[in-house]
Amino acid sequence: MKSQHPETIALHGGSHRADPNTGSVAVPIHMTTSYQFKDTGHAARLFALQEMGNIYTRIMNPTCDALESRMAALEGGAAALALSSGQAASAFCVLNLCQAGDNFVCSTDIYGGTWNLFANTMKQMGIECRFVDPADPEAFARASDSRTRCWYGETLPNPKLQVFPVAEVAALGRRMGIPLIMDNTAAPVICRPLELGAAVVMHSTTKWIGGHGTSIGGIVVDGGNFDWEAWGDRFPTLNSPDPSYHGAIWTQAVKPLGPVAFIVRMRTCLLRDIGAAMSPFNAFLFLQGLETLPLRMERHCANATRVAQWLAQHPKVAHVIHPSLFEGEAARRASILKGGFGSLIGFELKAGAEAGRRFIEALKMFYHVANIGDARSLAIHPATTTHSQLDAEEQAASGVTPGYVRLSIGIEHIDDIIADLAQALEAV
Ligand code: PLP
Repeated sequence: MKSQHPETIALHGGSHRADPNTGSVAVPIHMTTSYQFKDTGHAARLFALQEMGNIYTRIMNPTCDALESRMAALEGGAAALALSSGQAASAFCVLNLCQAGDNFVCSTDIYGGTWNLFANTMKQMGIECRFVDPADPEAFARASDSRTRCWYGETLPNPKLQVFPVAEVAALGRRMGIPLIMDNTAAPVICRPLELGAAVVMHSTTKWIGGHGTSIGGIVVDGGNFDWEAWGDRFPTLNSPDPSYHGAIWTQAVKPLGPVAFIVRMRTCLLRDIGAAMSPFNAFLFLQGLETLPLRMERHCANATRVAQWLAQHPKVAHVIHPSLFEGEAARRASILKGGFGSLIGFELKAGAEAGRRFIEALKMFYHVANIGDARSLAIHPATTTHSQLDAEEQAASGVTPGYVRLSIGIEHIDDIIADLAQALEAV
């Protein structure tokens, strides 16, 4: 059944209906490394990509496939690839297009771990990441040249929470033949970047999709909406013979399967070689989370809006960042979020960094953890934790000041959330 509604897609979207062998309604956990070939011809056809089917769980698995096809449906994309973590998903997005000597342009407003990966590890691989402030969409174009392979941004960037101008940047990129890759981790259901012109979406499924703080995972969704062939010179990994796959040119080889060259190349080359596969058990847990994601997002967002309003009037709070409070251009940019403004909140205490630490230690119900998007409410002090590996200048560029506290608002009763915040603020 085809539906446009996320509530329905989360339960019914993608390839799984009932298990054809057993009738099992829940997606079975296929804990198998490998799959019996029908005969030698079948095996050869699978390896030659002349027929689609399971070969080995490092590169595909039926439980992961159910998650992949459901996530592709949720984001409105053509196909998806599940990976072992959000970090693996970010790395694969870039490595699928960039080789040593190439560059890509990335928003300064991104998660600290992504920053490290792009600024340092990619550099060691000979790939240059050029950071630009997304306040000015044109900055992406100015930073690009003939070796620029993609642009990268975060929809609702953690911790700045200034909503990324997806449509503006994507449109500029399309004119120059440069695809926009969006990390949509903090805005599942409430934003669909592919509809706004992005070419690829990734998620750390560790967060809202899993939703219960149990498993690490990532996923990449290929929008199937970017013409890699029309800009052939810009994308040698997709348009020139691949020596690791008997000379296949991915944009040609994959044509019978649809507009999925990007994701097929990621699976057949990067996942095959680097092996950052999602475990089928984790895929099952993410499918469980996905079933209630739209419902949880409603409650996450409603609770966060109430908390933001409450904090904004508190005498000990200097300022609060949550898109529900934005005005002017920031509010216009936040209008790409539909049905809620996300559940991350940043705020600064008037009494500064030491007060921030005391506040976190006084919380009783909130967990003090390095995670976001759990059903439970969470809090952290980014300057001394998630962003501590960045220097002061890099911290400032990504929106982390010494007294900044980040909250990830859960789905508990709003009265209990506010009561815990109130007693912790009293202790400051
Ligand atoms: N992207 C964002 C926005 C994140 O917040 C995170 C993790 O916090 C990641 C990517 C990396 O995901 P993972 O921890 O699953 O590797």
